[in-house]
Amino acid sequence: MSAHDPNCIFCKIVAGQIPSKKVYEDEDIYAFHDINPWAPVHFLLVPRRHIPSMAQIGAEHERLMGRMLTLAPRLALEQGCNPYPEGGFRIVCNTGLEGGQEVHHLHVHVMGGPRPWARG
Ligand code: AMP
Ligand code: ZN
Repeated sequence: MSAHDPNCIFCKIVAGQIPSKKVYEDEDIYAFHDINPWAPVHFLLVPRRHIPSMAQIGAEHERLMGRMLTLAPRLALEQGCNPYPEGGFRIVCNTGLEGGQEVHHLHVHVMGGPRPWARG
C-alpha cells in the first residue's frame, strides 16, 4: 500500500493540499474537524499513511490504532466534549460501502457535545 494516494481527499488534507481545521498532529496521525458535523463536537482522526479502511488493518497497525484510540478521549475533552459519565463521546469507524464509508482513507469519527444531535 503506497503512503500517499494522489486521488484521496484525506491524503490531500494530510499533505496540506486541501485546507482543514487542525485538531492535532504528530508523525503518524492527523486530526481535523469534520466539514459536515453531526454533533457539536465532530472531528476525524486519520493515519498520515494511506490505508483504505479498517478492513486492511493487521497486526502491523496495532500501535497506530492504539494511539488513535488513546488520543480520542484526550482530544474529545480538549475540543469541548463534556466529561464522562454525564458527557462523553461517540466513536464511529465506517468501513466499506455496506458500513457507510464514503471516504476511503481510514478515519475515526469522534462526536460529542450536548444532545440531541442532527443524526444518529
Ligand atoms: P465516512 O462516511 O465515514 O466516510 O465519512 C466521511 C466524512 O468525511 C464525512 O463526515 C464528511 O463530512 C467528511 N469530510 C469529507 N470531506 C471533508 C473535508 N474536506 N474536510 C473535512 N471533513 C470532510
Ligand atoms: Zn488517503
